[in-house]
Amino acid sequence: MKCDGCTLCCKVLPVPWMNSPQGEYCKECEPNKGCKIWETVPEDCKKYKCFYNRIESLDSKYRPDNCGIVFERATKTIFYGTIDSDISMLNNVANKMIKFFVSEGFSVVLKHLKTEPVFIILLRIISPAEAEGNRAAFLPF
Ligand code: SF4
Ligand code: SF4
Repeated sequence: MKCDGCTLCCKVLPVPWMNSPQGEYCKECEPNKGCKIWETVPEDCKKYKCFYNRIESLDSKYRPDNCGIVFERATKTIFYGTIDSDISMLNNVANKMIKFFVSEGFSVVLKHLKTEPVFIILLRIISPAEAEGNRAAFLPF
């Protein structure tokens, strides 16, 4: 299974149908293991897929629990990342993903749950060669 022990969305995203507030693990979550009630879990939980989960070929090193951010494609041009409240610095994996999104022409909006809504929009113009290099290093397609 693609999530394979990642449970970050069950913490950093609000899950109103489970009365689970943003920033706290859902009561049915076993952190770093999975959902305790997966067999009978609400459809809305089953339907949710973060960016990583939607790309079958994406290497597990880019899994949200390895970068501390749950990324979702918000619009045609914007990626939205919710940073785990326990993270105080972005790690290399997170930086690489952000760099890739930006190199592909996306804006990246980041939200850290412990700071009062701080949104960072990152935009950078780079050469086509660098963009191609990022793509090759990040996505196998
Ligand atoms: S954040 Fe993505 S990979 Fe992690 S549990 Fe949620 S859907 Fe699965
Ligand atoms: S019910 Fe399960 S899948 Fe849904 S938020 Fe809670 S732990 Fe996650």
